[in-house]
Amino acid sequence: TGEKQTILVTGGAGFIGGNFVLLAVGAYRVVNLDALTYAGNLETLARVEGHPDHLFVRGRIGDRELVEHLLASHRPRAVVNFAAETHVDRSIDGPRAFVQTNVVETLELLEAVLGYWGALEGEERGSFRLVHVSTDEVYGTLGPEGRFTEESPYRPNSPYAASKAASDHLVRAYNRTYGLPAIITNCSNNYGPYQYPEKLVPLTITRALEGRPIPVYGDGGQVRDWLYVEDHCRAIARVLEEGAPGEVYNIGGDSERTNLQTVRTICGLLDRLVPGSPHAPHGSLITFVEDRPGHDRRYAIDAGKIGRELGWRPEETFESGMEKTVRWYLENRGWCERVMAGKYGGERLGLGGRR
Ligand code: NAD
Repeated sequence: TGEKQTILVTGGAGFIGGNFVLLAVGAYRVVNLDALTYAGNLETLARVEGHPDHLFVRGRIGDRELVEHLLASHRPRAVVNFAAETHVDRSIDGPRAFVQTNVVETLELLEAVLGYWGALEGEERGSFRLVHVSTDEVYGTLGPEGRFTEESPYRPNSPYAASKAASDHLVRAYNRTYGLPAIITNCSNNYGPYQYPEKLVPLTITRALEGRPIPVYGDGGQVRDWLYVEDHCRAIARVLEEGAPGEVYNIGGDSERTNLQTVRTICGLLDRLVPGSPHAPHGSLITFVEDRPGHDRRYAIDAGKIGRELGWRPEETFESGMEKTVRWYLENRGWCERVMAGKYGGERLGLGGRR
């Protein structure tokens, strides 16, 4: 018909969901449901504020009545679920919120979506998709060799990973048991604009700019496979349009770095991009701190399937993406200050020290 399609995005005021919404608005009508926890910030969506193709709704994915109402009144052709509690350290201090959102409320979302999809007919029913966005952390840890494939066994090691694993299993079961056309994506570590400054990359940037110690866990030798957030968002869009129901797609940047290498790269970029910084060389701020319990040693993703079947590959390299990211944080220091002060809808949690 050529008419613009509607999608329901959950968690679209967070880091990845927010980047996704910024890319999707215009191509789709986006109904954006987000609870605005500390990690969700409306300022991230300033660029699409008031846009006719963006409707923001504050609420929880576990609110059945609200979700059912949004589905019935907007009739989306897809739901993309980003909503989750996501910080591993917080899950170690308090796993309950993770089980609440990532398991209990995800189940409520599945129930609402199943009811909606079940009542669709014909082409609407055939083309409907639920895309559930998940992480490579569900696969546990790797030795020096090998990579995670879609066939790798689930071996989550943190409460965060366990709660995401549980949600993945529920999504799979809703596909196998009830036929819900759901797709799961498992992606490696993301970095880029609008990431809450508790995660490694923005934490390193903000600490370095303040001349404060940059904490690195253990020996810093943990290996992560980094992907620029917009590349992840483009992969999700591809899965939404062309992915097959019931399938799993691993997404990764083919960019393995140790945490120490990542932190050193950022410090080097700051040395270059902030001439005359009183804190240069920023690498001298690196401080090794006691390792996180249960810390996974290495993650690496084999993204061959999404490359072969859907033709997706990342546009940014680790170097180009990291430079874009550091530049963004330099140009948007106000965003960091305001989200950390909880001025944009987040409940103030404060991030004094390392958690
Ligand atoms: P984030 O913490 O930045 O954002 C999560 C968003 O979900 C926030 O806006 C928050 O307000 C919202 N939210 C939380 N609980 C909610 C609830 N009950 N109802 C509605 N909204 C709620 O997280 P992120 O880094 O953007 O991650 C998004 C998704 O991608 C998560 O499912 C995460 O597991 C997955 N993922 C993240 C990474 C990464 O490196 N950040 C990598 C792979 C997968």
